[in-house]
Amino acid sequence: MVDMINVFQPSLGEQELAAVREVFESNWVGRGERANEFEAGFARHIGVGREHVTSVNSCTEATFIAMELAGVGPGSEVVLPTVSFVGAGNAIASRGAQPVFCDVDPRTLNPTVADVEAVLTPRTKAVLILHYGGYPGEVAQIAQLCRDRGILLIEDAAIAIASRVDGRPCGTFGDMGVWSFDHGKIVVTVDGGMLYVRDPELAARAPKLAYFGLEQKSGYDQALRARTRWWDFEISSFSRRSVTNDVLTAIGNVQLSRLPEFIERRREIARRYDSGLAGLDGLLCPPPLPAGHESSYYMYWVQFEGGIRDEIARDLYERGIYTTFRYPLLHKVAAYGSGALLPNAEAAADRTLLLPMHQALSDADVERTIEAVRECVSERLGGAGGVKLAVADRRAG
Ligand SMILES: *Cc1c(COP(=O)(O)O)cnc(C)c1O
Repeated sequence: MVDMINVFQPSLGEQELAAVREVFESNWVGRGERANEFEAGFARHIGVGREHVTSVNSCTEATFIAMELAGVGPGSEVVLPTVSFVGAGNAIASRGAQPVFCDVDPRTLNPTVADVEAVLTPRTKAVLILHYGGYPGEVAQIAQLCRDRGILLIEDAAIAIASRVDGRPCGTFGDMGVWSFDHGKIVVTVDGGMLYVRDPELAARAPKLAYFGLEQKSGYDQALRARTRWWDFEISSFSRRSVTNDVLTAIGNVQLSRLPEFIERRREIARRYDSGLAGLDGLLCPPPLPAGHESSYYMYWVQFEGGIRDEIARDLYERGIYTTFRYPLLHKVAAYGSGALLPNAEAAADRTLLLPMHQALSDADVERTIEAVRECVSERLGGAGGVKLAVADRRAG
């Protein structure tokens, strides 16, 4: 039986194991020095002050906290692309607010500034965009629109950990940003998330919301000197426990140091797909990145003409290649109560497929995938013309 090629896969190895071993041996596995180091390293990575970031146990939890900090509640609307992660929709709806879904560009699957503007109302409290596949999209223009209208911008940068526009990291264009380190992302801590908050006062509230709303009254030393009890406390909100720990963040510290190498490999894989699939009739590769844009290459998505996407996904599976589609349209999910008609997103959702993309793919895996896609497309579209053309292209390239 052939080995299956995964769509997403983490790269965890000896270095991460050694870091975990060290934490075990230190006898402190809860939130401590490693988590502090992870937050400081991440803040450096996105070029913000250490006090503006809080690490939590998932990106979804970071989004829930962001909505609370944004003051989103009953009567308010939050705009998000219908091509969004389900946790983002839930973070809005769980606060009694209305998620308002906007359309996306049919090729990039990112919302354009016009898509966002079209659904703003006087009740819009915030806009929550993501960076599809790691492509930044029109984030700078959307940030400007939000500033002009006095609306908060929150970036779901879950899959945009190394994405930039003119050198500026995605996740830092708006008022808040969230990132994911779950098992399928680029930097993996098994489970984990990060929250960036621009406003210093709101940023100071974030770690409290992540830990019972607890107000730290004093430490051991202070309490000893003042002859008070260090176990007394006050709370400022009825909050949950969303903190991370030193086992997971020790893994994160190693992963963060490997990020440049991960991105380099992903860029190379995207380049191989681009040249290997170029000119294949009935298939479109991702559009080129605009000048000044850098991607994290989290996804490599192709789009099929002729309504063959689902068949191709099954054909590839039979050849040992997993593919998938992200993110199924949220305006179609009944529980959100949306009646929107979003034609570009609907067309894109019917023809887009994610090919395997992760840094552990070998050149042979990528070749095998390219060959399989070519074969499946020509079989399904019933002509060899496209294949001949593409083979000629590849010889030339
Ligand atoms: C994975 C993902 C999330 C959620 O991250 P978790 O850490 O699993 O909660 C949010 N948004 C996007 C775009 C994602 O891909």
